[in-house]
Amino acid sequence: MTLDLARLRAETPGCAHVLHLNAAGSALPSQRTLDATVNHLQLEAEIGGYEAAAKAHDDLEGFYPAVAKLIGAKADEIAFVENATRAWDLAFYSLDFKPGDRILTCVSEYSSNYISYLQVARKTGAEIVVVPDDNYGQIDLGALERAIDKRTKLVSISHVPTQGGLVQPAEAVGKITNDAGILYLLDACQSVGQLPVDVTKVGCDFLSVTGRKYMRAPRGTGFLYAKRATTSQIEPLLLDNHAAKWTDDNAYTVRDDARRFENWERYFAGVIGLKVAADQINELGMEPIWARLRELADGLRERLATLKGVKLTDLGKVKGAIVTFAVEGKDHNELKARLREQAINVTVSTQFSSRLDLKGRGLLNVMRASVHVYNTEDELDRFVAALEKII
Ligand SMILES: *Cc1c(COP(=O)(O)O)cnc(C)c1O
Repeated sequence: MTLDLARLRAETPGCAHVLHLNAAGSALPSQRTLDATVNHLQLEAEIGGYEAAAKAHDDLEGFYPAVAKLIGAKADEIAFVENATRAWDLAFYSLDFKPGDRILTCVSEYSSNYISYLQVARKTGAEIVVVPDDNYGQIDLGALERAIDKRTKLVSISHVPTQGGLVQPAEAVGKITNDAGILYLLDACQSVGQLPVDVTKVGCDFLSVTGRKYMRAPRGTGFLYAKRATTSQIEPLLLDNHAAKWTDDNAYTVRDDARRFENWERYFAGVIGLKVAADQINELGMEPIWARLRELADGLRERLATLKGVKLTDLGKVKGAIVTFAVEGKDHNELKARLREQAINVTVSTQFSSRLDLKGRGLLNVMRASVHVYNTEDELDRFVAALEKII
């Protein structure tokens, strides 16, 4: 199956206004997702929020199977969370770390996750071990295997980092953690919606995702996958009257599905928006989306390679839809601002989001142009021409 590119573009209202190369920041939603979200907000205003939720019951419940289908999970393994960081936090902070426990992570790890490792290490005496990269710039699987010992409690990595095209070998990592019987937390914030992710193949225990990036859903949405077989005994760090039931004056019981990681109040219009976004991806199919995104990103890398003073900075054996580069002697933020004046959206990834990786490579920051299905080859030509002119 191939994608109907003209139709995808026609059904994305933002395409009429911007040349958007910032899917890794926040992608352009489809008209259908936008309508579903706005219509629910409208309904809340017209008949009341509780009444609107009752009326939209089927769509709200439909969120769980839609998202589960996308990642090969079961509906009761999905929790709605307002973003990827909180989804990740809910998993991570619910684990019980003891002095000497080890957390294994990768060089390209996302800053928010790493800050949490530092906090937990400081509070509990757990230790952080950064597994080195191999020659491709992805996690060294041999080194990972050797790093695992009796004290290793968790392997936690980002599937696709925010600062580049790298795709970590998540399934190979899962094979190692499963063989060793160690918990595996995967930050799939940039990968779900970009490339096929099947949790039964990855073998992770937890996986966190945001709505606004490759899923093209509204901001303020995300989800947590919690594998039933291994996580049902883990009591969430935070409980409320949705996650648990007050069963006796001095007792409560916790829900037994992944919704025990949720809380009661949420962005209902966003739940519906994220459901519709997941439905659309399921209808298009992840394989054709991934093939098209690689085609676009490879085409962009080829074009950028022809510009003088431009150095591509993407790592990895497999390179995805996030294209990064450095421009010699230029201020990347200034370039970004100049492009923005022409309604061309790119961004700058800094050490603020991935300190170990960029600092280790001697990069202060990199320019990031991230493609999605609504982008065209013509747009890539226009972007590269505009950039060349500014340089
Ligand atoms: C964007 C990003 C996050 C944070 O997602 P939020 O939805 O902003 O919380 C986490 N990890 C990676 C790799 C990201 O790129």
